[in-house]
Amino acid sequence: MAIVSSGSGRPSSGQPGAERLLGARLVDAAEPEVTELGQPDSFQADGLPADSLRPRRLQEYIGQSELRQVLGIAVEATRSRGEALDHVLLYGPPGLGKTTMALVLAEELGVRCRITSAPALERPRDIVGLLVNLQPRELLFIDEIHRLNRVAEELLYPAMEDFRLDLTVGKGTTARSRSLPIAPFTLVGATTRAGSLSSPLRDRFGLIQRLEFYGLDDLQAIVLRAAGLLDLDLESGAALEVARRCRGTPRIANRLLRRVRDVAAVGGHGRINAALVDQALSLHRVDGLGLDAHDRRLLSLMLEGYGGGPVGLETLAAGLGEDPVTLEAVVEPFLLQQGLLQRTPRGRVLTDAGRAHLGRAA
Ligand code: ADP
Repeated sequence: MAIVSSGSGRPSSGQPGAERLLGARLVDAAEPEVTELGQPDSFQADGLPADSLRPRRLQEYIGQSELRQVLGIAVEATRSRGEALDHVLLYGPPGLGKTTMALVLAEELGVRCRITSAPALERPRDIVGLLVNLQPRELLFIDEIHRLNRVAEELLYPAMEDFRLDLTVGKGTTARSRSLPIAPFTLVGATTRAGSLSSPLRDRFGLIQRLEFYGLDDLQAIVLRAAGLLDLDLESGAALEVARRCRGTPRIANRLLRRVRDVAAVGGHGRINAALVDQALSLHRVDGLGLDAHDRRLLSLMLEGYGGGPVGLETLAAGLGEDPVTLEAVVEPFLLQQGLLQRTPRGRVLTDAGRAHLGRAA
């Protein structure tokens, strides 16, 4: 049971409303970091950096066919029943489209999406304030949901299951527990580390979907779409070259495309071809597989410092001056997927392909 102190705003008798129940301190408290998105006209009027490249509808969302199919069916069924969509957990490496999918779902359902991340929900009143303010069928997107603290997580259980908040009001001998109904809503949780989620929380999601790295065709389509939106004249071979070098990740594809755009603008190139992409990305030290200097430093450290491994994650992280969690969740997945390194019970091992790639890069 969560402890939410109402301070001087202890509720008087009668049916307590949200404000009265939560007390002045909670309601007046600084709002946690939240962004509202979802209604067509408020889509860009938000606190997020304007991302004109984000697909807005399911139809525009490229790739991840299983995810699109599963969620498309769920959206349609929910719409016809007029209910809130079941809670959705999206997991996978960063930049694959989890936030984008939450916004797409809100758009498809015609409701608002409130965006926050677990580290911003430090105090119980942060999450309580968010939940009591939700309107029926709205989406609440919590990024990095594996980082929720226990109190916040326990507040979420009855909220997700029964659309109810269990609160303890007051302190010590005057403490009383109250149950507060909230609007039926949909929680969309995103995480790069599904394994770190507690199982009671995971079990409360009706739809659990993994996002995969994108294939070349999908990435090429994403790059061409983005080039169209950025008003760039990009040859399809050039789009393929960006696709090859973006680590299977749309966010990186968009970032590389912007770097290519800069080089093209400075060089006065109207039409962008594969050679220009190669020139621009080499300038940024992105190699043929899409590895950047940072990835290559990891592989080199394994080879030169530890004879190719096995070597522990913590040791590698210390050698690179990197946080082990970031290394594991952000840097490693693509290197593993490409077969450049392996995880073994004794530590990370550089594969033959990893050695060969370093040889080529050298
Ligand atoms: P995540 O939340 O998984 O870290 P985002 O949803 O923020 O990733 O996606 C990063 C960027 O990649 C988005 O701004 C969007 O422009 C682009 N993107 C992601 N998924 C897709 C997709 N399926 N089709 C087109 N663009 C996409």
